[in-house]
Amino acid sequence: MPHRHNLTTLRDMLRRREISSTELTHHFLERIDRHSDLNAFITVDEEGALAAAQQADKHLARDEHAPLTGVPLAHKDIFCTQGLLTSCGSKMLRNFISPYDATVVERLAKAGSVLVGKTNMDEFAMGSSNETSHFGPVHNPWDLQRVPGGSSGGSAAAVASRLVPGATGTDTGGSIRQPAAFCGLTGLKPSYGRVSRYGMIAFASSLDQGGPLALSAEDAALLLQCMAGFDSRDSTSIARDTADIDEGLKINLHGLRLGLPAEFFDESIDNAVLTRVREALGIFERLGATLVDVALPNSAAGIPCYYVIAPAEASSNLSRFDGVRFGHRSDQASDLLTLYENSRAEGFGEEVKRRILIGTYALSAGYYDAYYLKAQKIRRVIAQDFSKAFEQCDIIVGPTAPTTAFSLGEKTQDPVAMYLNDIFTNTVNLAGLPGLSIPAGLDEAGLPVGLQLIGQFMDEGRLLGAAHRFQQATDWHQLVPKGF
Ligand code: GLN
Repeated sequence: MPHRHNLTTLRDMLRRREISSTELTHHFLERIDRHSDLNAFITVDEEGALAAAQQADKHLARDEHAPLTGVPLAHKDIFCTQGLLTSCGSKMLRNFISPYDATVVERLAKAGSVLVGKTNMDEFAMGSSNETSHFGPVHNPWDLQRVPGGSSGGSAAAVASRLVPGATGTDTGGSIRQPAAFCGLTGLKPSYGRVSRYGMIAFASSLDQGGPLALSAEDAALLLQCMAGFDSRDSTSIARDTADIDEGLKINLHGLRLGLPAEFFDESIDNAVLTRVREALGIFERLGATLVDVALPNSAAGIPCYYVIAPAEASSNLSRFDGVRFGHRSDQASDLLTLYENSRAEGFGEEVKRRILIGTYALSAGYYDAYYLKAQKIRRVIAQDFSKAFEQCDIIVGPTAPTTAFSLGEKTQDPVAMYLNDIFTNTVNLAGLPGLSIPAGLDEAGLPVGLQLIGQFMDEGRLLGAAHRFQQATDWHQLVPKGF
């Protein structure tokens, strides 16, 4: 049962030739097929995967090892993949075969990984439940009636159900961390600029970051090392090597200061979530960390601030999908204007249209100062809150989401209730910081609870190291949903 092993172990087994990449890829492809009811994948590239696996086996036979040689992986369908459908979960891009690879895709391929397919997601990464996808909702392997979280819900469901040992996701306001929490995974949103956004279809460019979804901090570190690094094709990319990530895994927790913001521990949070988070913090204490109280006084402004800035940037980014330059073209048009109108009306789903409307409104003359500019100022204040808190601690901790996975359909009629799910995650994007979600146990219904660790800018090494120590002392990250 090779799917029971994590990515690092599989990588080592491949190197020792205890299993071939072709066998492993076949095994995972069969699982993807058997569990197609989860709807975790939009595209499965059997032929491409087996060809890449064969190639990897040739390298392995000669002991030529790249960091991930022969390891099967999946990419969120927001990453452009040459020659493969890249739909971004939208009808708008239902037929878009990308002519090039995103930097993340290119780097993970160079690292020797085998791409098995593209995962389902909320349309244009807008959502917290994977229910806005044009390709239908994804089911949470822990309870098929529940959502896997979003927007990287397909990637999270695929890794949690062991259809792949790791996958990529993107996180604009929580889309890696919240699905990781809902599916019992380790998910990292890197510091803004650490991972190239080139070829990652843009939602809100000042917030978007790609990152890994994995079964452990060690696996996430391995994936991040392959994904991260400077890219001249992304003007916000930061030149920083990845030495800190290796170093970070070796850290000692003695004297590590964990900051608990009162704002992340209020009564509106699910009881079981709070209990599990507090228990996890107890374990960190036993391992040598100290807990300190900190304050993030402007956290409550995070949701309104994010839901002005993200739609504003989205309305601009999505203007290219007009049926002429990019995207679905309506055949119901008599002139240019109706061609634009009908193409966009037919190609975009309801949530995406809602965001475009909000964003266009917030950016329009007369409202720009009142909404967009104001939100930018609040964003600065939120970032300053984090800087102040980090004067007293090394890592900020709290729940990843206020609840465990909710039921399919539960929040689809109430966009604000859906947005509130990001309450602990989106301030991290506004401040450009790294955030990690790790499994911290189950609630009374047997659903995973996520613990969030927030680091200082470019401090991924320490985050992953702290999580790695925690995972050496616990086995929450090894739980497998029943039936998988
Ligand atoms: N749920 C948030 C939203 O809908 C975050 C999405 C994301 O991180 N891509 O915008």
